[in-house]
Amino acid sequence: MKQLSDIGLIGLAVMGENLVLNMESKGFQVSVYNRSTDKVDAFLADRAKGKKIMGTYSVEEFVKSLERPRKVMMMIKAGAAVDQTIESVLPYLEPGDIIIDGGNTHFPDTNRRVAYVESKGFHYIGAGVSGGEEGALLGPSIMPGGSVKAWPVVKPIFQSIAAKVEDGTPCCDWVGENGAGHFVKMVHNGIEYGDMQMITEVYHIMKELLGMSADEMHQVFKEWNNGDLDSYLIEITRDILAYKDTDGTPLVDKILDTAGQKGTGKWTGVVALDLGIPLTLIGEAVFARCLSAIKDERVAASKVLSGPAVAFAGDKKQFIDDLKQALYASKIISYAQGYELMRAAAAEYGWQLNYGGIALMWRGGCIIRSAFLGKIKEAFDKQPNLNNLLLDPFFNEKVTQAQAGWRRVIAAATLNGIPAPAMSSALTYFDGYRSERLPANLLQAQRDYFGAHTYERIDRPRGEFFHTNWTGRG
Ligand code: NAP
Repeated sequence: MKQLSDIGLIGLAVMGENLVLNMESKGFQVSVYNRSTDKVDAFLADRAKGKKIMGTYSVEEFVKSLERPRKVMMMIKAGAAVDQTIESVLPYLEPGDIIIDGGNTHFPDTNRRVAYVESKGFHYIGAGVSGGEEGALLGPSIMPGGSVKAWPVVKPIFQSIAAKVEDGTPCCDWVGENGAGHFVKMVHNGIEYGDMQMITEVYHIMKELLGMSADEMHQVFKEWNNGDLDSYLIEITRDILAYKDTDGTPLVDKILDTAGQKGTGKWTGVVALDLGIPLTLIGEAVFARCLSAIKDERVAASKVLSGPAVAFAGDKKQFIDDLKQALYASKIISYAQGYELMRAAAAEYGWQLNYGGIALMWRGGCIIRSAFLGKIKEAFDKQPNLNNLLLDPFFNEKVTQAQAGWRRVIAAATLNGIPAPAMSSALTYFDGYRSERLPANLLQAQRDYFGAHTYERIDRPRGEFFHTNWTGRG
């Protein structure tokens, strides 16, 4: 073992341990520290045994065990723990040293911490890490942002531990200034909420309207995973549907229908509202989890509120294809909205985001990895300033092709009383976005009527405002 390690990691919970083992497997020597030092001993005695991993028992010993410029990575609970850990490390740092936060931190906190740590003469990186435990061990998607001067120092380590796409390109590149890395990770999580919700809606319609068994659905997802929809979430859905409980029946049928959430989807929705971006699909996905969570209320309501009888009379095979079209088209909308949010944030916070690079970072290693993201990368490579993904010729053609099936699915779900909030809000957004004229003229008239908020006219230049005395009263 060398006297000084290449990098150090604080936080030996599941993510931290796995990242350390990943780094070590790529040839880096890693120093480790954990607030409860018994975890250092436990790690050294078990998973780290015989590896180039140096255990340390105080922050000072930990920092001093690192080669300069020091790379101190935190993989700990987001929030106050991160501020406390930064404070504990700062006294031992020297100019050029770098603190990295790899946790699920909300980006405004990273904005603040980058400024703070830089004010002390050091560098700070907020890196979104996606892929769960397995990704951390075998190759996560890593989205770093913050002090740009620190990137060349950290890049060789991050790019070697990150997931790789087919041609070997790492799913890790510089995202942008201050909290941009954590922002992009947040949008990734929001998109994950949307992708998961859309799949559950398809499952619901297959089950309730088509009366399909878990095995039949498993077959359909298996087929879909070999085409345009090829993705991690379709793959695990395929496997979940095939999984049998000890009594031989599908385990999925026995799982309580109340969804949990840790808040990153909510953050995405709140930021979208703050920035005025219609991120409708992710918003609906968050609300769908909220609605699922009020199980007792739903059970009570189901006894008093009625809907239509469910009846399917069409061609089942055709309708399954329609479902595939609806899912694909809705997914395009979700990414179009997510990218609109990133563009708005880049303008708001002064970030230079590499949109194609972001698609590539999500292409492997993370929960939303999919073949589809390769197409998004191509779209932004062709037009780096693309306003909306729907305007890219490839996605325009795909949505056009999918449209009829998508509409049939939403119509059937609505007529049969099966909720499909994400896919139907996606269609509504599509119809709104492609409308030259929306009914906001009436809305402006209403605002002017009750609040004298004024309006512009289509027969007069923009920027000229009018007020009407709608009642004729003085
Ligand atoms: P975690 O349960 O979020 O955090 C546990 C770790 O945080 C322990 O090492 C703990 O030390 C440390 N910690 C807590 N409070 C502390 C404090 N005040 N000062 C210093 N250390 C403190 O662990 P995790 O699931 O491995 O996740 C680590 C980070 O990665 C989190 O931000 C998480 O959101 C993010 N993340 C997790 C996943 C995942 O799949 N789990 C995926 C991506 C990102 P003690 O042992 O002393 O308590």
